[in-house]
Amino acid sequence: MHEAPLIATLVSGIVLAFVFAALAHRLKLPALAGYLLAGVVVGPFTPGYVADGHIAHELAEVGVVLLMFGVGLHFSLKDLLSVKAIAIPGALIQMAVATVLGVLLGWALDWPFAQGFVFGLALSVASTVVLLRAMEERRLLDTERGRIAVGWLIVEDLAMVLALVLLPAIGGALASGQGVSFGALASTVGIAIGKVILFVALMLVVGARLIPWLLARVAGSGSRELFRLAVLAIALGVAFGVAGAFGVSFELGAFFAGMMMGESKLAHDAAEETLPLRDAFAVLFFVSVGMLFNYHVLLAEPLVVLAALAIIVLGKSLAALFIVLASRRPMRTALTIAVSLAQIGEFSFILIGVGVAQHMVSKEAQDVLLAAAILSILLNPVLFKLLDRAKPWLDAREATTEDAMAPPSEAVPVQAGDLSGHVVVVGYGRVGRLLCEELRTHGAPLLVMEMERERVEALRELGIRAVSGPASSDEALTAANLGAARALLVTVPDAFEAGEIVRAARQLNPQLTICARAGSGAAAAHLHEQGANLVVSGEREMARGMLDRLSADGAEAVAA
Ligand code: AMP
Repeated sequence: MHEAPLIATLVSGIVLAFVFAALAHRLKLPALAGYLLAGVVVGPFTPGYVADGHIAHELAEVGVVLLMFGVGLHFSLKDLLSVKAIAIPGALIQMAVATVLGVLLGWALDWPFAQGFVFGLALSVASTVVLLRAMEERRLLDTERGRIAVGWLIVEDLAMVLALVLLPAIGGALASGQGVSFGALASTVGIAIGKVILFVALMLVVGARLIPWLLARVAGSGSRELFRLAVLAIALGVAFGVAGAFGVSFELGAFFAGMMMGESKLAHDAAEETLPLRDAFAVLFFVSVGMLFNYHVLLAEPLVVLAALAIIVLGKSLAALFIVLASRRPMRTALTIAVSLAQIGEFSFILIGVGVAQHMVSKEAQDVLLAAAILSILLNPVLFKLLDRAKPWLDAREATTEDAMAPPSEAVPVQAGDLSGHVVVVGYGRVGRLLCEELRTHGAPLLVMEMERERVEALRELGIRAVSGPASSDEALTAANLGAARALLVTVPDAFEAGEIVRAARQLNPQLTICARAGSGAAAAHLHEQGANLVVSGEREMARGMLDRLSADGAEAVAA
């Protein structure tokens, strides 16, 4: 194994992550806990095999990059700008609050000021991976809450660029004992800001033209394989290139590359296909975090770890909550954003690492930060669960005038309480579109559940009632008034996703006629198992259609 550390790290990480995630699933714990535990097991603080920390870290980095690329794909510049009024002040104020709390903690513990400051700064940035995974799992990325959270994250990432160039400058000045020269500091900051501005301008002006142009050329070659490769090459190439040239992070480069690529529909689809890669690497991210966990610190400094955890989970969230509420957004939005930011991860590790390298932060403080970070990552799914619990209260609250006056949230705006005996179609894609056309000509009362915002908007323009969001969510199912519906037609191609929808719908309405689309025999069996009455599989219907045509069109043609 020692001759092939990359393979050993990759394989042990994935295999153990699977084993512990399966165990976690059994115990009804989040899969995340399993991944982290796998990391602890292959980490240096537990006996037995120790995976290569540097390699694990780099693999994790690839995961973060692919993840941010995926988010960029779904994001348009319009989305980003639409949340700037809240994301910029929100992120900056929240970071300031966390940093001040960190400094106060350091002061209480008699730490040198620099250590408290770096520690606080490290507490102030949320982890991209943790936030994105939580949002994706709950399909929140396409909602207003999701856009605010991602915008907030981008601002934090940009602020980190500054923090990372500033730290060595301040550290160097402190070490030389000459104090911090204001002029030198100002020029360092000026150069860093200039680079970031240049980077963003270049991406928006040159990237926005060059990337689609390049893709169109490759598409012209007619090779699908080449096209897919081009997408991946641009994603990674741009991310890596700009990270080096402009001093921005690898992930920020990937986000912008994704955003530019999202403008081309073809690239969008091709990139989606390459994204399963990112899930595997995201798992390795958590494994690599687990490897850093020195649990001895929990015994040595339990109170300090708890205090740091409280700053992350309570201090930061309360600050975010107040900021979002102050912008007159609904409580649901404020709570979602507060919870999604109540954790820290990769940036904090980098920052505290720089602090240690600059002799500003002690090794012990670093261990405390790592332990608090891991606990905050573990706690995050629990907080989201609590948020789900608060749903009835939030619903009741949103019905009151105070929140009704706030700008409408994305949360499933259409209520179908007045509809009954209606047909609900899930998915407005190739199949759903045809279904809707037919149903409309027959004048059937109709409601569509669709996840993609643009499609929902298109539906509403056509005057068709549409519920936005993932159809398996309670919110969406209630809004579609399934209890009173006549039939549910599930056109979602993914068998697992369709199965979830069918199961949830069946629970809500045991009498409902549910018809689902299947891609294969196994999928059909799965859908039946989940409660579908009828399952239609593409291939079988095509064969049947061909035979029907043949017999209708000319038995004589066959005979001839
Ligand atoms: P197609 O495969 O072209 O028939 O498209 C399937 C449609 O289903 C797309 O418009 C997707 O956005 C939509 N879709 C996929 N999953 C879900 C889901 N869980 N809830 C609602 N719509 C979905």
